[in-house]
Amino acid sequence: MPINLPNKFEYRDNHLFIDNIELGEIANKVGTPCYVYSASAICERYRQYTRAFLIAGLEAEIFYAVKACSNLEIIRLLANEGAGADVVSGGELLRAMKAGVPAHKIVFAGVGKTAKEIELGLKSGIRAFNVESEPELRLIERLAKQLSLHARISLRLNPGVDPHTHAYITTGQRGNKFGISYEQALELARYATNSPYLWLVGVQCHIGSQLHELEPISEAANRLAELAQTVERQNNCALEYLDIGGGLGVAYRLAEEQAASPEALAQLVATTLARYGRNWKILAEPGRWLVAEAGTLLTEVLFLKSDTETTFAIVDAAMNDLIRPSLYQAYHEIVPLVEPLNSDLINYDVVGPVCESGDFLAQNRALPLLEEGMKLAILSAGAYGFSMSSNYNSRPRAAEILVEGDNWRSIRARETFEDLIRAEG
Ligand SMILES: *Cc1c(COP(=O)(O)O)cnc(C)c1O
Repeated sequence: MPINLPNKFEYRDNHLFIDNIELGEIANKVGTPCYVYSASAICERYRQYTRAFLIAGLEAEIFYAVKACSNLEIIRLLANEGAGADVVSGGELLRAMKAGVPAHKIVFAGVGKTAKEIELGLKSGIRAFNVESEPELRLIERLAKQLSLHARISLRLNPGVDPHTHAYITTGQRGNKFGISYEQALELARYATNSPYLWLVGVQCHIGSQLHELEPISEAANRLAELAQTVERQNNCALEYLDIGGGLGVAYRLAEEQAASPEALAQLVATTLARYGRNWKILAEPGRWLVAEAGTLLTEVLFLKSDTETTFAIVDAAMNDLIRPSLYQAYHEIVPLVEPLNSDLINYDVVGPVCESGDFLAQNRALPLLEEGMKLAILSAGAYGFSMSSNYNSRPRAAEILVEGDNWRSIRARETFEDLIRAEG
């Protein structure tokens, strides 16, 4: 089945290119495994996302969810386009600031912020803490008082909706650790508006990732707007914004899947706001949607090995490089860097060298006849690829390359053995 390659990817004379760069050239010079991202693909996605809200008549600010792909150069690229940052740790906060995101364009989420991380956020003057529990709110208040500062806060609502995605990436259902119930959010809003150290600036929700259905998002947006309206009435205050989180899904199966669009999302949010007759500013926190399709993981076939049932293609990338197939049963298209002339397909399990049977990149996948030494591109690997990678099995983490039109450069060197042991002994 022919697949539609992601934007900026194409075969020219059977050789796979990103923008004007042949991927085989990068694989030869840098080695594999190696992540490659297209700068123009990321920027175009960002512009499409922002335009969608503009067209829907909404004033929106886009905060890139840094955890999707945390490389400084990727954050910098988006910051130059005007994006803020949604961070979930002190480390991500420092990355965002180092990449040039101004503190007032950073929001800080997460259920387990430490005192040290909160102090860092307070001293930096971030836009808001997205508060996920009552004890967190009290800690933020105490630290703000100690530092004689005001903490800008937003309450993260758990709206109790099922977003119909993988269980590990739902975040807005009862029983998830994320967010605050509607009733408790009203209580905490009252508390915050009476505190001299807390400024309640918004309400937020983020119900999950890789969302395809708009209905649950619509339900969540409605609950959020209802919460905002009630908070404003009960406390005689005005919120600066509603933060609708991220979560928009992408089509990993490039032949068949239809992804939800930011245009549909923005329209839905506009419809919701119209129902409440209030034009709150919108904050959105997309991660995956901006970077997933812009990135690929290059790998080389090391060995082929068959038993009676399965043909294994053992490649030099593994679950430590890209954990999504092992963790979420996620699907990634795999294509050769040089299209073979023979169009026959056979089924392979594409597996890595890690000592786990769960270490696979694809199972029972129809691919062209593979040979040892052939190089492959694992597509749509830009989000939650490198950022979830590890050193398991003492494997150095892969190099990262950024393609900018006619040029490419390293944005992260491949780790060495020395990097692996630096902090030991
Ligand atoms: C992970 C996360 C996002 C981004 O999710 P995507 O599915 O990558 O768009 C946004 N907001 C919060 C709070 C998150 O934890």
